[in-house]
Amino acid sequence: MKQRTIKNPIELVGIGLHSGNPVRMSLKPAKEDYGIVFVREDLGVAIPITPENVVDTRLATVIGKEGAIISTIEHFLSAAIAMGIDNLEVGIDGDEAPVMDGSAASFCLLFEEAGIVEQNKAKKAIVITKPIEIRDGNKFVRLLPAKSSEIMFEIKFEHPAIREQKYLFQFTRENYVKEIARARTFGFLKEVNYLRSIGKGIGGSLENAVVLDEKRVLNPEGLRFADEFVRHKILDAIGDMAFLGAPFLGRYESFAGSHHLNHLLAKALLADKEAYKIVESESEKELDREMEKAFA
Ligand SMILES: [Zn+2]
Repeated sequence: MKQRTIKNPIELVGIGLHSGNPVRMSLKPAKEDYGIVFVREDLGVAIPITPENVVDTRLATVIGKEGAIISTIEHFLSAAIAMGIDNLEVGIDGDEAPVMDGSAASFCLLFEEAGIVEQNKAKKAIVITKPIEIRDGNKFVRLLPAKSSEIMFEIKFEHPAIREQKYLFQFTRENYVKEIARARTFGFLKEVNYLRSIGKGIGGSLENAVVLDEKRVLNPEGLRFADEFVRHKILDAIGDMAFLGAPFLGRYESFAGSHHLNHLLAKALLADKEAYKIVESESEKELDREMEKAFA
């Protein structure tokens, strides 16, 4: 299996979740082994996707370099990984990615519209060879060795519309588009009001997030899936694991994980040379088959 980029440059305009300002995002094809690199086009600063460039994980995953930041990139990255993109330049003319409808569905469509092309070099993957776990009380995220690529996520909220949700996602592009891409980000009215009071979440609305009050979902159209919440956590986890630099072959598990724990997990894995190996898909037949299944 080969590395991939997009066939044609493409642009998209949306609004930033926190600023509420319009943002333009442009995707350009990139050469082999380039990886995914964001560029603040208004400032001329390139920010590669590495754990060292993560500057904040409280409300979203934020990258930064030389004083330039780009916020809320996890949904876009999730779509890029799921669509099998290895090399891409992503230009943005502001400090956050467009929020679209709060899910990754628009980004998947964007990649389809741009077209996806195979390049000459073999695709790389990160094979997990030793369990790595990050814990915070009863919350955890971990990566385990496994033959295929899968994600098991569990959440528990004392809220009648959420309660306990558990989901096992088998990584394939088809499954992602069908089961995960459309799951929207969610938040509680209390938090929304607080965010607004500190000048954040200005662009947030029922058009781009599921919002809950004490008892129920406020969006008039309701949920896209009964367990949309846990599906969105999987969407986020895939985006946050993009910081490994290549898609992983193994099993990711979490109870109540967050961007912050995901960031610590990616850092911890890359710091432990015994916990992973980087392989090229064409080095072993069996591996190539697994990668074809998960990332083709
Ligand atoms: Zn999210």
